[in-house]
Amino acid sequence: MNASLAAVLAVPSVAAAQPGRGLTIVASRELKIGRATLQVDFAAGPLDLSQDAIFEHVRAAASAITAYYGRFPVERARVLIVPVPDRSGIVQGTTWGDMAGFPGMTRVRLGQHATVDDLKDDWMMTHELDHMAFPSLPDDQHWMEEGLATYVEPLARVMTGELNARQVWRDMVRDMPKGEPAEGDRGLDNTHTWGRTYWGGAMFCLVADVEIRRQTGNKKGLQDALRAIVAHGGTIDYEWPLDKALAIGDQATGTHVLTEQYAKWKDAPVTVDLNKLWAELGIRRNGDEIEFVSDAPLVKIREAIAHSSR
Ligand SMILES: [Zn+2]
Repeated sequence: MNASLAAVLAVPSVAAAQPGRGLTIVASRELKIGRATLQVDFAAGPLDLSQDAIFEHVRAAASAITAYYGRFPVERARVLIVPVPDRSGIVQGTTWGDMAGFPGMTRVRLGQHATVDDLKDDWMMTHELDHMAFPSLPDDQHWMEEGLATYVEPLARVMTGELNARQVWRDMVRDMPKGEPAEGDRGLDNTHTWGRTYWGGAMFCLVADVEIRRQTGNKKGLQDALRAIVAHGGTIDYEWPLDKALAIGDQATGTHVLTEQYAKWKDAPVTVDLNKLWAELGIRRNGDEIEFVSDAPLVKIREAIAHSSR
């Protein structure tokens, strides 16, 4: 979740200018990732998990983001771990830009009884850190912030070996239909439902990724566009209009895919024939699982989208 979206959805969260203010920090550790430094702070409260296990989880998420973007997007970030008494699992995450001297700040509320297995299954830490790799957008374009984080998170974790490609595509096949427009939809800029914000945004990213790869003979992808946006200073601590980010992304891939697709999707309900897309990518459903088909036309594109860097 991105901070401004939390306000839009009226999620109970601190409206205070400085999240975490007033909390007692019982431990603070520094995590170096390339040239970036993440300050991992632990607020007071009971936790079954060790600080070491949580710290390593933050490292894994930051490493995945670094693998996808080529570097951690901001030079300094704060990750605040806040225990939630009597709860299990990873409860909630929010990320802000330009907070108390940090270009990026993520707060993760962690259940007292969260386990090592919960951390192993957790996507939220990577999702939150991904928010740092895109500029802050006006309210109407929050779907792009959330869609991007939703789309990139598993692809980043494949790169570091935390997930495999089969798991990623299985989940996309299962979840992507939640992003399709419903009756009365007026396009992504005007339809701020949960499904359109998270999965509509993710579907925008997937369709753009495939199209960039189609047009460039699979030499460029959405990843190249996103890296260029970060390289131009498009990180969460800066407010940009979406058009500016998309233009930089298109320039990096030598296409007009992002700009043209946004023009089509922003004010109109664009339905994607996902079944056709999965078939072209060589993905066949088998109950709750999927299997890969090797002779489909876009197999190479599928392999390039979710690949391990190891
Ligand atoms: Zn988010």
